[in-house]
Amino acid sequence: MDLLKEYKREIEYCTFCPRLCRFECPTALAEGNETYTPTSKMTLVYLTEMASEKPEEVKEAFYMCVDCRHCMTPCLHRIDVPKVLIAARAKVYESNIADDTIKKFAASIEKYDHPYSTVLENNLEDILKTQQEILLQRSKQPDGPSSPLANGEGKVLYFPGCTALRFDKELVKGAMRLLDRLGIAADVMDKPLCCGYPGYAAGNMNWFMKVALQLKQLLDRYDSVISTCPTCINTFKNTYHRYGIDIKARSMHLLEYIAPEIKPFLDGIAKENKSAAYHDPCHLGRHLGVYNAPRELIDQLYERRIEFQWNRADANCCGGGGAVPLTHPKTSEKIAKKRMSEFKKTGADVLLTACPSCVRWLKKADEHAEVMDITEVIVSKLAERV
Ligand code: SF4
Ligand code: SF4
Repeated sequence: MDLLKEYKREIEYCTFCPRLCRFECPTALAEGNETYTPTSKMTLVYLTEMASEKPEEVKEAFYMCVDCRHCMTPCLHRIDVPKVLIAARAKVYESNIADDTIKKFAASIEKYDHPYSTVLENNLEDILKTQQEILLQRSKQPDGPSSPLANGEGKVLYFPGCTALRFDKELVKGAMRLLDRLGIAADVMDKPLCCGYPGYAAGNMNWFMKVALQLKQLLDRYDSVISTCPTCINTFKNTYHRYGIDIKARSMHLLEYIAPEIKPFLDGIAKENKSAAYHDPCHLGRHLGVYNAPRELIDQLYERRIEFQWNRADANCCGGGGAVPLTHPKTSEKIAKKRMSEFKKTGADVLLTACPSCVRWLKKADEHAEVMDITEVIVSKLAERV
């Protein structure tokens, strides 16, 4: 599929633009390199498509994008630069001129059907044990727990996503217990499934399409699909759609799903006497437009919420997206460190977010800082009230 032909308008607009987004791009800022500004990267796509520039000579710049969409915030034309750069990566991959790092990664995801080799099977066993415990408990309550969320939700699937399965089993188990506590009888998958994003970001579209078509069969059996990973939800909702695959189930981030109904469960719980800053994950904020639900939840959990100087649609990225940790790990680290230095400037005690990838990258950038997923905080608060 040559999407670059379809994206002619975007490529031309950016090429001839006065660079309104120049100072938003985290990769260009981290490297201090004009080649990595959105305009320059799009110009390189333009030159490979419309002129005689050889992709093998400029392809490196196509991978210098964390898929954060920050360039869209000041863009009057609302040009989606990352979707074009990822289509350019797909062309590089199809032409068999991708670097060895990408080729090896692509071969590994094809072999394991997720990016983390066999480790996930072991982690999933532990998660399925938690599911068994939940089911056993539920069988002892014939009337089931009652909650506004339990009614009329139809069949619900909790999709943890492979990053949480690999790096944050506790988040996955906590989310399952939380859903149960709120009266939502969610199914959990019995295989370590990936949404396909890692293959998409690397440009391996055959694998991405294979995964998307297989997952559609599973997801279409549900009325709602919930995840603690905004990348999975954005992939189901927006990226599959762009590639002609529409999921029937309503897909939502867990926090967006529970925020309207959780108040009665948190009523009377003592707020943390700390200040919390919220980092907007790019896929939850700019891609899915979810800004308020996490903030409303923080306000019910903490005495004070502090905003980053760069927040909401202007939030800076954690550096963990768009396969940049694979192709340019040092750039990812610099981006994460910058975000953590912004966190320090807020003066907040705790950094909260809503994405397993953001938690991982931000923690790595400053291991002394307290970085947590909001879901974990809700789970521990509810555990205080057994
Ligand atoms: S994303 Fe918008 S502002 Fe940035 S170069 Fe393209 S057209 Fe210009
Ligand atoms: S999506 Fe983010 S990393 Fe990619 S070009 Fe735009 S600002 Fe830069």
